[in-house]
Amino acid sequence: MKCVANVLVSFIVLLAPAAHAQSTSTATPRPTADEHIQNLIGSISEKRLQSIVAKLAAFGTRGTLSDTNSPTRGIGAARQWIFDELKRSSPKLQVSFDTYQIAPQGRIPHLVELRNVIALLPGRTDRRIYITGHYDSVNLGPGVSASLASAAPGARAPDLQHLEAIYANADAPGADDDASGIALTMEMARVFANSGINFDATLVFACWAGEEQGLIGSSVHAQKLAADKTIVEAMLSNDIVGGIRGGDGIVDAATVRVYSVGPDDSMSRSLARNTKCSAGVYLPSHRVRLMAREDRFGRGSDHSSFTTQGYPAIVFRESRENLARQHSADDKPDGVNAAYLAQNARVNAAVAASLALAPPAPKVTDDRGRPLIGRDPSGYDASLRWLASPGAVAYRVFWRDAWSSDWQHNEIVGNVNHFVLPDVSIDDFVFGVAAIGSDGHQSLISAYVSPERHMPPVKLAN
Ligand SMILES: [Zn+2]
Repeated sequence: MKCVANVLVSFIVLLAPAAHAQSTSTATPRPTADEHIQNLIGSISEKRLQSIVAKLAAFGTRGTLSDTNSPTRGIGAARQWIFDELKRSSPKLQVSFDTYQIAPQGRIPHLVELRNVIALLPGRTDRRIYITGHYDSVNLGPGVSASLASAAPGARAPDLQHLEAIYANADAPGADDDASGIALTMEMARVFANSGINFDATLVFACWAGEEQGLIGSSVHAQKLAADKTIVEAMLSNDIVGGIRGGDGIVDAATVRVYSVGPDDSMSRSLARNTKCSAGVYLPSHRVRLMAREDRFGRGSDHSSFTTQGYPAIVFRESRENLARQHSADDKPDGVNAAYLAQNARVNAAVAASLALAPPAPKVTDDRGRPLIGRDPSGYDASLRWLASPGAVAYRVFWRDAWSSDWQHNEIVGNVNHFVLPDVSIDDFVFGVAAIGSDGHQSLISAYVSPERHMPPVKLAN
């Protein structure tokens, strides 16, 4: 079916107020792009992305255990530059160091101070949308990533990141991994803050530390968000998003991969589908390839810190990686294609701006997490309930065959919180609902997910 998620909805006829549960409108949705978002996307600068990657690589290393005192080399100089540059981008950005003292553990041999660099663009509400990358880099020695990648599946390799002496201050330009993601994040901060758009959601542009040591900076940040009960609608991780030529020589500058953790109707998967749809509307020349898995084999990134805390998150990955360059002194700016990186930035902008202008996704579960779905009134109908989403003027109900991965049917209903599809079995279809705001922007789709069954162990008589 045509992509209907997260595009501007024009109402051709007025939505009928819901007089009863089955009231629906005959409005025909017409997906169009929002010119404000188009302008925002148009202001992304390829040149600026390129110069940020070059600047970050020029710090020599941004290793987590590297020098913090030099003004020109090491992680201390790099994070201060990111901080200053974000501040310079716009007075609307609230820029801060998000600082933690990390005890020795795993790949952290001694107490280390980690600083995420955060730029916050306040919206009308506190709910947050994150655009992120990681600014730390690592050098495990030439070709190490490639040899680990070509090792037999399941082969156990020593964890080279324990060998502090080898890599703490060795050259680790980390141009693609992940100055590309940081350049994207910093450029997003600049164009969103200068867009003149009054967003409903608060945008957070986060440059994570300690990713290479085990997602540490993003983990401690997400833990704090969850403890503070902060609402995060979406988190976009950009990690290795600038290269077009794989180590096998194959070139792809026209697609990007998006990984998201299941189950199939998790909010992370909903965010992934939404991303593909937004890209289709605003950037049809760049194809989003959805991957129904958390990440590549044996690899990870900061999105997992957020999904662990129950927040929707995805990671962008270039389509063709050069594994021989990663985590070595060869990860240099010549491996980053600014035009391609700009396309990936535009996809980020399209999805984040659309969601930040839409109402929050409707809640489709009760206080105990049970889905608000039933078979009433006949016992053979699909009866869907949801909680009102602030700012919504209408809702859109989606359904699809239970063995299909893409939504097949949808209907815009009025400003109601209950909708019945007569004679449609809730056991044969997956259902979801999205909120639509007054300017036509649509939220993520919340799906009705069957809770896991917990089977108590059977006791045997002795
Ligand atoms: Zn990375």
